[in-house]
Amino acid sequence: MLNLDFDNAFVRDLPGDPDSGPGVRQVLGAAYSRVSPTPVAAPQLLAHSPQMARRLGFSEAEVASPLFAQVFAGNSLIAGMDPFAANYGGHQFGNWAGQLGDGRAISLGEIINAAGERWELQLKGAGPTPYSRTADGRAVLRSSIREFLCSEAMHHLGVPTTRALSLVGTGEWVERDMFYDGHPEMEPGAIVCRVAPSFIRFGNFELPASRDDVELLKQLVNFCIRRDFPELRGQGQALHAQWFAQVCERTAVMVAHWMRVGFVHGVMNTDNMSILGLTIDYGPYGWVDNFDPGWTPNTTDRHQRRYRFGQQPQVAYWNLGRLAGSLSLLFDGVEPLQDGLRCFVETFTAADRDNTARKLGLAECRDEDIGLMQSLQDLMTQAEVDMTLMFRGLADLDLDGDTPDPAPLREAFYDEGRRETAEPALREWLGRYAARLRDQVLPAGERRSRMNAANPRYVLRNYLAQQAIDRASQGDVAAVTELLQVMRHPYDEQPGREAFAGRRPDWARERAGCSMLSCSS
Ligand code: AMP
Ligand code: MG
Repeated sequence: MLNLDFDNAFVRDLPGDPDSGPGVRQVLGAAYSRVSPTPVAAPQLLAHSPQMARRLGFSEAEVASPLFAQVFAGNSLIAGMDPFAANYGGHQFGNWAGQLGDGRAISLGEIINAAGERWELQLKGAGPTPYSRTADGRAVLRSSIREFLCSEAMHHLGVPTTRALSLVGTGEWVERDMFYDGHPEMEPGAIVCRVAPSFIRFGNFELPASRDDVELLKQLVNFCIRRDFPELRGQGQALHAQWFAQVCERTAVMVAHWMRVGFVHGVMNTDNMSILGLTIDYGPYGWVDNFDPGWTPNTTDRHQRRYRFGQQPQVAYWNLGRLAGSLSLLFDGVEPLQDGLRCFVETFTAADRDNTARKLGLAECRDEDIGLMQSLQDLMTQAEVDMTLMFRGLADLDLDGDTPDPAPLREAFYDEGRRETAEPALREWLGRYAARLRDQVLPAGERRSRMNAANPRYVLRNYLAQQAIDRASQGDVAAVTELLQVMRHPYDEQPGREAFAGRRPDWARERAGCSMLSCSS
């Protein structure tokens, strides 16, 4: 029953806090603290990812057993688990924040599955740790549903991400002041078990560097390379340089995917940046409905808009700069780190060009195609056009004539007046686009399938997640499971499920949870 093969490398190979238990403290010279989850009143499995369960080696019967809900609520440990909270720091909204650490995440251990893959199992919302600071270590149902659904949705979109195994209701209530306006409410609590080969963040390296603890920094770097980047060869500074370049490359690939699918992370603090280039820490994230590079779902960031959609590549670069600064303690000169940062720029630029080609159905991205894409994006911003519907719609147009008819794109517009105003510009753009397509030898069918493999039909629109949350809060979790099923095949037409592909409805435009989210979770 729940037989897993544990290999807890992080706690075995790295120095730990000599103290254990959840008392809040500064933890020096240690990468983690041992701490057990705090049991909850009435664990109930609300949803799980069948794909992830199978990948880890669980049968559906095991998932359905009472023990599974107990374990993934943090009420029971199984043989081989050795729970801990990781110690890390981070730059939050541009400022160094000191020690942060896993304030409500508790890793249960690392398993090796039948395929030899390493997966760390981590409960989010499992109770206080030494890093909880003034908070309670818990998570509410709404944010847990959002993390559960989005990590799986991102995976199926082909975006590197941490995964989710389970969503368990705790049977307990958690107090949250959702908009920090002095109106706290009691909300149902939940715990997600998230899963990744590694949960190491940029902040794990920044913290020892900020304390001039070069020994711990070096241990962490060497550990991370050995465990998480076993393909890297070499020694000393050359190896460290290669590794940093890899981190830069993976981060660039991840952010290029975000831009391709219209994902806004919302809180790109360095403690929320995975060293493996995985999307991590789903908080007030959001999906772009009407294309707008200035949009952020995060109300906490509404004035500065530091983490707005169009700024994400620059922020990722800035974050890598902070990581480079920390790693510079291990290097004699800064050149290798500068080379790594250049790697970010080159990789992102290449990935972004590739996205342009794939999204527009071009065999290759020529220099002038960047302008073509930019004009389309400007038009979409000005005329309030749905990003997802627009790109899918473009694939359906008949572009053989000189002046393509824009009628099939009508449903992508949010405002009829703006659509009429934009129509001449759209016709002009479509003319340019059609001319460009005539200048390549890619059969129409091939162009269409190329586009439909890069432009999803279904994304986890904010209002869809909110509807599932509303229903789950009434005790009906079927909507969560249904949404997960839709998001498993985001690029396919799914007859009968057209409603999940529609524009954001008007009621969702300014509704909490749909367009506005705070960090309170
Ligand atoms: P975030 O911006 O959500 O990634 O969180 C920033 C820091 O606050 C991390 O160290 C979290 O572990 C911690 N944190 C967030 N929410 C809670 C909570 N409810 N209880 C304890 N720590 C929390
Ligand atoms: Mg975080």
